[in-house]
Amino acid sequence: MSGSARLDRAIDEGFASSAGSSPVAAQKVGAPVNAMTCDVEDYFQVSAFESLAPRERWSNFECRVARNVDLTLQLFDDAGVKGTFFTLGWFAQHHPDVIRRIAAGGHEVASHGMCHTRVRTQKPEEFRQDAATAKRLLEDVAGQAVRGYRAASWSIDDTTPWAHAILGEIGYEYSSSVYPIAHDHYGSPSAPTEPHRVASGMLEIPPTTVRFAGKNWPAAGGGYFRLLPLAVSTWLLRRRARTGAAPAVFYFHPWELDPQQPRMSGASAKARFRHYLNLHRFEPRLRALLSTFRWDRMDRAFALDIARAGQ
Ligand SMILES: [Zn+2]
Repeated sequence: MSGSARLDRAIDEGFASSAGSSPVAAQKVGAPVNAMTCDVEDYFQVSAFESLAPRERWSNFECRVARNVDLTLQLFDDAGVKGTFFTLGWFAQHHPDVIRRIAAGGHEVASHGMCHTRVRTQKPEEFRQDAATAKRLLEDVAGQAVRGYRAASWSIDDTTPWAHAILGEIGYEYSSSVYPIAHDHYGSPSAPTEPHRVASGMLEIPPTTVRFAGKNWPAAGGGYFRLLPLAVSTWLLRRRARTGAAPAVFYFHPWELDPQQPRMSGASAKARFRHYLNLHRFEPRLRALLSTFRWDRMDRAFALDIARAGQ
């Protein structure tokens, strides 16, 4: 679908959905649809703390995921937004009620692997088993097909040329796992910045970036959303909408809505800075973003791309 055709469709849908609607929806009329996503992992399951909270000790930590996912669902409901929740398969075993509430809210349940193991640390067969198990467990609990996969810490890159093919073989229809930026823990700065099919045919939908000073920069979520003023994100999203490009892909984590989360002792200064920076600002910023732009689930925002990739 061309950019202009996509914009036309978005405008049509905007008018259709805004008939008799609230002022919040009215200000979104004519705006392109973007994809709202979150990665469902708890505060102690992030890669930056993996040496402090190895998987076998996860049950020792206070679990905050139900509180934080429920708040996410409330914020989405308040703004009339449906989104995609890339969820650890671990929660299907330990907190299935959380996954059921996501599905019952009309949101897309997608996969974030079983236990937040980075793809590039796994052998191909280990990855196959992990991604397949997460898909099966999440589908059993959610009662819906799991079509999307997002690698822990954007860990599909040049060192895992087999990963996308395996995802296709076990039934995933799209991946959102390659971050085309330079970062000390992840990233593939030379990877395509827009949705594309990789050699195996799998559709890869990267998080949105912006080109500036010869480099790609995060433009929709992550730590930058807490670090920089909200106006930066809204300006970038509006700028992108004007170009008629593919939908933007925003991402966050429910633990970012939780300034009261227990602090991890022993974390490095850099990890603490990145994880705890401006947590108290996240909820009002997310509320503003949800009400200012039009958002939908990944599988709907990219429905035509997914259908074409499956042909
Ligand atoms: Zn994650």
